[in-house]
Amino acid sequence: MPTVEAKYWEPLKSNKVRCILCPRSCIIPDGGQGFCLVRKNKGGKLYTSIYGEITSANYDPIEKKPLYHFYPGSVIFSIGTNGCNLDCKSCQNWEISRQETSRQLFTSEMAVEYARRYGSIGIAYTYNDPIIWFEYVKDTAKKIKEAGLVNVMVTNGNISIEALLELLPLIDAFNVDLKGMDEEYYLKFSSFPNPNVWKVCEEIKKAGKHLELTKLVVPGFDKFTPEYFERFGKWIAENLGKETPIHYSRFFPAYKLMNTPPTPVNVLDMAYDVTKEYLYYVYVGNVIEPERESTYCPQCGALLVRRVSYNVDVLFDSNGICPNCSRPVDFVF
Ligand code: SF4
Ligand SMILES: [Zn+2]
Repeated sequence: MPTVEAKYWEPLKSNKVRCILCPRSCIIPDGGQGFCLVRKNKGGKLYTSIYGEITSANYDPIEKKPLYHFYPGSVIFSIGTNGCNLDCKSCQNWEISRQETSRQLFTSEMAVEYARRYGSIGIAYTYNDPIIWFEYVKDTAKKIKEAGLVNVMVTNGNISIEALLELLPLIDAFNVDLKGMDEEYYLKFSSFPNPNVWKVCEEIKKAGKHLELTKLVVPGFDKFTPEYFERFGKWIAENLGKETPIHYSRFFPAYKLMNTPPTPVNVLDMAYDVTKEYLYYVYVGNVIEPERESTYCPQCGALLVRRVSYNVDVLFDSNGICPNCSRPVDFVF
């Protein structure tokens, strides 16, 4: 039974409540739950059913989040729970994001203890979307900071700006999964009618936090033309800065798209080439292509980090400058 009262909701008539944690703004009747499954109305009050409970925990390479410009080559303790405010057609983790499963108790204190082990740099809130875990993420992130460790959020980025601003001082780095560049895409692919992810990305940058983007390229949903990917490159360059990395990820059949073929690799290569005209750092993911997984200096083209899958070879020195032309590298380390 959920016992921790949720944040970001308002009471309505007849014991209904409106949750305003994310732009979906669910109106939830007494005894009901929000779209994300884990915010529940009990007697006219909203509760979270996942506070201090996890479904998954692992020590992952930071590159798996993916974060390529944040402590490259490090390990990060990663946790997730149940629920999500989106329902993406190809969700890899739908067993935990779109249904409730058994969960294990995991206090913030335990999270800090585990985050210190095996050389981990801190915690990544990931696997399902951490937005809907707001109360626990905030309390844990505070303790993680006090312990001198880092907090990472891997998220779809659709959170109310007010709630984001409350989390921002505690989170060091974000990977935002940018599904598309317009509302139509979100409605078709993620059943989400009113995304605000673009504004959220701008706020993350404005706060000076590290941000990388992931774009899963899905046959039947994304257009395989240069103009289509140009739009990503242009918008990111103009609104987030040319130094913001984007990861184009290869789709493989999953969840509701089991009969859709994987993304052709030449489409990822084209997306990479087109976007490289606008941004310094473009990567391909879910495919082994060392040339397009590695980082090059935007000024002289020297290899700065060699990557082959999760094997990482950092080639710049501890002063954080390009060994060839001395340009400062765009890395947090
Ligand atoms: S966080 Fe959950 S309950 Fe709240 S508005 Fe979003 S989907 Fe609805
Ligand atoms: Zn250089």
